Amino acid sequence: MGLRISSSPTSSRPTPPHLHVISRAEHGISRQQISPNCLKVLYALNDAGYQAFIVGGGVRDLLLGLRPKDFDIATNATPEEIRALFRNSRIIGRRFRIVHVHFGREILEVSTFRALTHDQVEVVEGGLTKAERHLDSVQSSDGMILRDNVYGTIEEDVMRRDFTVNALYYTVRNFEVHDYVDGLADIDRRCLRMIGNPEQRYREDPVRVLRAIRLAAKLNFSIEPVTEAPLRPCAQLLRSVPAARLFDEFMKLFFAGVGEQTFELLCHYGVFEVLFPATGAALANPERHEQYLKLLHLAFANTDARVNEDKSVTPAFLLAVILWPALQERMKQMLADGVPAVPALQEAGLSVLMQQVERIAIPKRFSVPMREIWELQLRLPNRRGKRAHQLLANKRFRAAYDFLMLREASGEDLDGLGAWWTEFQQADFQRQQELIDTLDRRATHSRPRKRRVRSRRGKAPQQPPVDNV
Ligand code: ATP
Ligand code: MG
Repeated sequence: MGLRISSSPTSSRPTPPHLHVISRAEHGISRQQISPNCLKVLYALNDAGYQAFIVGGGVRDLLLGLRPKDFDIATNATPEEIRALFRNSRIIGRRFRIVHVHFGREILEVSTFRALTHDQVEVVEGGLTKAERHLDSVQSSDGMILRDNVYGTIEEDVMRRDFTVNALYYTVRNFEVHDYVDGLADIDRRCLRMIGNPEQRYREDPVRVLRAIRLAAKLNFSIEPVTEAPLRPCAQLLRSVPAARLFDEFMKLFFAGVGEQTFELLCHYGVFEVLFPATGAALANPERHEQYLKLLHLAFANTDARVNEDKSVTPAFLLAVILWPALQERMKQMLADGVPAVPALQEAGLSVLMQQVERIAIPKRFSVPMREIWELQLRLPNRRGKRAHQLLANKRFRAAYDFLMLREASGEDLDGLGAWWTEFQQADFQRQQELIDTLDRRATHSRPRKRRVRSRRGKAPQQPPVDNV
């Protein structure tokens, strides 16, 4: 990959965490703010003699006065022990198994404290041989588990979390918050600080680069300088993350109501072009940079507004916009080579998609409508005869129309096409007919009669003009 990231072996060793207990009077979290089902699970685990905490985004958001998306629970009970306590539960996952406890539609995720990764284990459990350290679990000849690299203590669980503000543990025993990494101070400072050596943590799991950006945007936090410095150099590491996982992350990045801010940060740290390489290259075209950027901003802002109003959103539409600049640049070449507009769009569309899915696995249920939205952009100008009515009945019409409006708002001149369709949709049948007739009149006035010259290699595309495709 040709990427060099310096690493200092000493700084990679986590310092053993020191517990700071924050009392109820100091942190102000009340049980009223916590899901009753979550409280039930915490009490049940405690009653059975286990430790149990809410951890992660739940505690962080409560401390910030936000409504948590969900509550994750961490405990020293093993998955089997958790499973035995809750009839309504299921063990899921393979290497690291967690338990889902079901309460109707609410699902609570209960994880057993997790141990550190191999290189970090050294500090905590120095007594084992090197070979043993690299095994997930070590058994003696009689099968007794000497050490399990999968489950650990709360201190280890703390150290494998990403940011200090995500490593605060709330317990219903005395209603305390347990803080091992000065997370509360970082909540007060509103800053994201990586636990351990940031470079190393990004390398262990490059998705943490995305998490830093996503959480900074969502919480309106700054990223502490040592945590921030490796973001740009580590962006390239995202190329090694499985494409399916990146699709999940893509959804979290752009459908949480802060997509526009997230997009800005992704561009700022050179991450956007790693996630969407062809769009990144298209944005570098100085002639179209402004227009493409405006289109993307408008789409993210619209999506954010819809998410925040609880309206439905589809990744197909947003992906159609994000990949549109890439499609345009590829089509431009093909049209210049004399390929007619429709096949050019189909071929360029497919090639943009094939390239993109290598990085982010877009499921077919989104990529198929995405391409339909693109194809309708070519058909929307053809409104004569029965076509306008047929287009209106197309199941992707609304999305294609919204897309058209965005293109115009971003500065594309489409000769009033958006306004025509806006009026057509609102008009009664008679007015619709008039609107179509106006097109016919315009066509006979403006077009020379002999328009059916079938030149495949002609310079000018037949319709619509290159810029408007
Ligand atoms: P959100 O509010 O968006 O859900 P979150 O921080 O709760 O944010 P989750 O994906 O729900 O994010 O993860 C729960 C917790 O698990 C995190 O707060 C963090 O402690 C830990 N975690 C999640 N992903 C990672 C990761 N890649 N590396 C280290 N720790 C992680
Ligand atoms: Mg969460």
